[in-house]
Amino acid sequence: MSAEFAERLLPRLPDLVADYGTPFHIYDARGIVATHEAMVRAFGDPSYRQYFAVKALPNLNVLALLRAAGSGFDCSSPVEVRLAETAGAQAGDIVFTANNTALSEYRAARAAGALITFDDRSFAEKVDELPETVAFRISPTGLAAGCALMGDAAHSKFGVPVRELADAYADAVARGARRFGIHGMTCANELDTGRAARAAADVIRHGARVAEAVGIELEYVNVGGGLGIPYHEDDKPIDFTAYAQEILAAREEFFGPGGPRILTEIGRYVTGPHGVLVTRVINRCRKGHEIVGLDASMSSLMRPAMYGAYHHISLPYAEGREIGRFDVVGALCENLDKFAVDRELPEPRDGDIALIHDTGAHGHAMGFTYNGRLRPAELMLTDGGDVVEIRRAETYDDYIATVRWGV
Ligand SMILES: *Cc1c(COP(=O)(O)O)cnc(C)c1O
Repeated sequence: MSAEFAERLLPRLPDLVADYGTPFHIYDARGIVATHEAMVRAFGDPSYRQYFAVKALPNLNVLALLRAAGSGFDCSSPVEVRLAETAGAQAGDIVFTANNTALSEYRAARAAGALITFDDRSFAEKVDELPETVAFRISPTGLAAGCALMGDAAHSKFGVPVRELADAYADAVARGARRFGIHGMTCANELDTGRAARAAADVIRHGARVAEAVGIELEYVNVGGGLGIPYHEDDKPIDFTAYAQEILAAREEFFGPGGPRILTEIGRYVTGPHGVLVTRVINRCRKGHEIVGLDASMSSLMRPAMYGAYHHISLPYAEGREIGRFDVVGALCENLDKFAVDRELPEPRDGDIALIHDTGAHGHAMGFTYNGRLRPAELMLTDGGDVVEIRRAETYDDYIATVRWGV
């Protein structure tokens, strides 16, 4: 959670909690737009474009905010394409990067005028007519292969193996394709700027090699997303300016002056730090270790349970109390429904407001409704300082809306 967001949010949080109840996610519109704009400035190249990875925070209001700031959208399903279009995306504003993709999904992406990335040669072979611009995704290689969430080339389900890339493009040329891009998702939640930049440079290098081998001109290199954010208080944030400059230098090195446009499809880095999950302490108990129960469950934020991911937790109005160690838990009938294990916190009391930080990406979006624990509301703190509800909390009627009862 950025210092500016905390400064603007905390004074009014008790009122918001009284008005809206808990739990809810709240996002900082100013911070989201500022981050997007800083990224564009860091590249300082008019041909650069960032396409926000919709899956990170698929709320129309956030998408519209980013669109107004000039962002495109990275979509990986027809529903995400529709969301992007509803938020105002026009032809050329969408990149479609999916894997294990059905033919109908490529059609939907094409109808939306998206730049399509084929995850595999066989997928491109299946479409009757190739899109105007053809791009393939490179299988994780080199540095990207070290990334746990991606899998190495031998075990990953993503992308075309490097040694088959030239053949993939040659096939596309033989089928009449005339415009080309290349795609590489270089990492996931990577906090090492140099490593992220070198992995992106690897994609640029492979692009140059393949373009040369096949005799095509690459119009763009999409270096994907996957930049990390400082979830731990002592994590150092990515130096995005250094990242951008290293990528531009790699383009110069492998393509000379000019060269393909650089695209990114970053999600987490844009919105992650600009969201928090606001909850309240509802229980305290002791079972050999201390347990604090919140009124949110992993259905509102799956990352800690799913990946053992760290999210900072604070009790902003409990300063000065004795510090203890606590497991911070939700209510699902699953022992892994824990936001933190053995975490240092000021002595929590029933009714305390507890903030789970950095939930602006892959937070609400990954929510689910198991155990009848419904997804919470999403609020937005606008640039002007208003708070608006941009998605209401789910209700019992939502939960059963798809059930055919009494058939
Ligand atoms: C998830 C994903 C992204 C965004 O990743 P972040 O870590 O949120 O930046 C971009 N591209 C593809 C293909 C993805 O799967």
